[in-house]
Amino acid sequence: MITRPARVVAELVDNALDAGAERIDVTVDGDGTDRIRVADDGCGLSRSDAERAVERHATSKLPAETEADLTGVSTLGFRGEALAAIADCATLELVTNDGDAVGTKLRVDDEVIVSNAGRARGTTVTVTDLFADRPARRESLAGKAAEFGRISELLARYALARPDVRFSLTHNGNETFATSGSGLEDALLGVYDAGTASRSTVIHHETALDDGAFSVDGICCYPSVTRSTRDHVRISVGGRPVTDTGLRRAVVTGYGSLVAGNKYPIAAIDIKPPAGTVDPNVHPAKEEVGLAAREAVEAAVETAVSEALTAADARRTDAAATDLETELAAVDRSDPFGEVRVIGLFRDLYLLCEDGDELLVVDQHAAHERVNYERLRSAVAEESVPTAPLEPPETVSVGPAAAAAAETHTDLLADLGFEVDAFGGGTLRVSGLPAPLGRVADTELLVETLDQLAAGQQPEGKRDELLADLACHPSLKAGDRLTTDEAEQLLDRLGECEQPFACPHGRPTVCSLDESTLAAGFERGSTRFR
Ligand code: ADP
Ligand code: MG
Repeated sequence: MITRPARVVAELVDNALDAGAERIDVTVDGDGTDRIRVADDGCGLSRSDAERAVERHATSKLPAETEADLTGVSTLGFRGEALAAIADCATLELVTNDGDAVGTKLRVDDEVIVSNAGRARGTTVTVTDLFADRPARRESLAGKAAEFGRISELLARYALARPDVRFSLTHNGNETFATSGSGLEDALLGVYDAGTASRSTVIHHETALDDGAFSVDGICCYPSVTRSTRDHVRISVGGRPVTDTGLRRAVVTGYGSLVAGNKYPIAAIDIKPPAGTVDPNVHPAKEEVGLAAREAVEAAVETAVSEALTAADARRTDAAATDLETELAAVDRSDPFGEVRVIGLFRDLYLLCEDGDELLVVDQHAAHERVNYERLRSAVAEESVPTAPLEPPETVSVGPAAAAAAETHTDLLADLGFEVDAFGGGTLRVSGLPAPLGRVADTELLVETLDQLAAGQQPEGKRDELLADLACHPSLKAGDRLTTDEAEQLLDRLGECEQPFACPHGRPTVCSLDESTLAAGFERGSTRFR
């Protein structure tokens, strides 16, 4: 049943995919009731097939064993009435060519008018005046922006489910998005942006189920790229978008605790269950999927996601490690802690170390913060701090002085990775936050930065301050118990820093207590027995 413009688009795109299209261009005017056009480069229709296609129950796709509940049909739908149903509540024009010298144009209004048409192989369906004579349907639509939003989301889902097909969406003459048909990363780039696509990892996972092989393919954004709704977790089955709560939940569970409780990841997962274990027509709007072995399928999805993220996380850590083993780039001087030996740990915060005549006490948090700060700093040395989009953008009320500072320092903020627009009245709209190597700042950091700028603090050094704050989060805390080996590694890493003796906030990392201080404390005349 055609209930809204997005349903028309879904049916037409399904048909185009069934026809083997490699390219599908969708054009929408207004909310879609004015005009929807879907053009494909699929197999096209002969004139007689085209005439039949617009009659009710005209499918060419009925598989032999339709009475079976679970079928293995590979097409996207075979109810055989979409075109007729659309023609019922709109004016439908179909121009098609299956490779003949001359193509066919059908105009279906009150009657069907057939004529010749020039067209390369493929089909263009144009639907105008949808619900023109159905005021109740028109009434029930959600408003122009919302209806187009549904179409745009639908097409994003198709684009991610079929990364091998080129999709484009044009709205009122402007291209909303386009994908290149060359893989998932490009599809993600088309639907989102370069920043999002570059922080993602592709998934391929195969499992043997009782009924045969089962595969999970898709793309997952790193946990640093999140959204506040689960709408960005997209599921498809065999290249066909579905809304399926269980599978969505399995993806989110696969992220585990990597994503905070009130945030959701961006991911697109396509599952290919063994033929015969999925019922593609279980829901009339084709949004829920009937799955045999659902539990096993959900478990496999969860595993695929969590394994992909573990692997990806390891790779990301290479770029800016926060572990203790990875060495820093060599500095041109001898290691200040070369001769130092860790002799103990105190209160799970201080490393006690022997350095000749001195007892060194190292603050493990401050030391690790320094190490991570220098790593972050060198990783973003050559470029602006990367941004993680904040969606939906947050409105932050900062007061007129800070808002004015935001306007004065637009370039600085952009370089720091903040995406900010002034809203007027001391309010800012924040659509992106700094995220060097997956460590996302929060809006509080922006407010703080603006307050300082407004108070006349110089912009120089802001970048370093920000990196220092970001270096804090992944660093060891008081109470993290290190082994002696780890303590020694930490000391090695600290020794590799350019400035090993202060944390990035300027507090010391190392205090030394020389033996004479102890000797004085114990009222010894000399420092050592010999
Ligand atoms: P169904 O897709 O369920 O078969 P439709 O009403 O959507 O029913 O389409 C009717 C028939 O028209 C299809 O079975 C197919 O043969 C043909 N058809 C529709 N759209 C296209 C297209 N874009 N390219 C080629 N054939 C198409
Ligand atoms: Mg169809």
